[in-house]
Amino acid sequence: GAVFRTQGLSKVYDTGDLKVRALDGVDLELFSGELAVLLGPSGSGKSTLLNILGGLDHASSGKVWFRDMDLSAMSDRDLTLYRRNHVGFVFQFYNLVASLTARENVHLVTDVAPNPMRAEDALAQVGLDHRMDHFPAELSGGEQQRVAIARAIAKRPEVLLCDEPTGALDSKTGVQVLEVLRDVNDRLGTSTVVITHNAAIRQMAHRVVYFLDGRIDRMEVNDARMAPS
Ligand code: ADP
Ligand code: ADP
Repeated sequence: GAVFRTQGLSKVYDTGDLKVRALDGVDLELFSGELAVLLGPSGSGKSTLLNILGGLDHASSGKVWFRDMDLSAMSDRDLTLYRRNHVGFVFQFYNLVASLTARENVHLVTDVAPNPMRAEDALAQVGLDHRMDHFPAELSGGEQQRVAIARAIAKRPEVLLCDEPTGALDSKTGVQVLEVLRDVNDRLGTSTVVITHNAAIRQMAHRVVYFLDGRIDRMEVNDARMAPS
């Protein structure tokens, strides 16, 4: 079934004298268990859509559902609960606490989640079981991003939303981080949406959505990834 569905979704940023139409009537369906990637030029609306799917921002008009929950009708308070209970976020910058080890950084969130993974298990999922007691400064950029992914999946979110998770990494390290996201999607079945400019993602994604000027330009389904393995 659909994990996300949008209907005529539009977003206008009103900055006083300037109105920017960031999303312009987006109709989209993303499916449970899939890894979807949002591609398109800078400014085409990808982050705006991801933020609305994640309950970090409201649409200006149109509808957006997470399963049968109408996010467009929710109060800020309910959107906060939605984010807490259902969504894991990964951003370009890792936002790790420098004074805590990898294990402790993941533990911070597993402490407050209703049904968390053990921090050790989350770190094993991203291939960092041998670095659990390292501090962020002792880890490479790619390893720090993997800790951030472990932190995001440790609360067992139904969806993982990743906004330029490779943006601060060289392209080879970026591929490794995308492979971690693909493996997590394979093993845990977490529905995943990724924004990245790293071309390697096209082989890994089930669905590729191309944006242009706030609209969906076209969509590709990756048959190779769809085939049962
Ligand atoms: P992308 O992720 O594809 O680069 P964005 O969703 O970030 O695109 O931006 C879409 C458009 O909305 C751009 O023109 C951008 O400048 C504008 N925009 C994004 N966020 C804001 C904001 N907070 N205030 C005003 N304009 C914004
Ligand atoms: P909490 O669950 O503690 O109330 P929030 O609901 O505010 O936290 O945020 C949920 C997740 O989204 C957190 O992982 C937080 O780091 C992230 N987040 C929220 N707002 C932003 C933002 N504007 N930019 C980057 N990350 C954000």
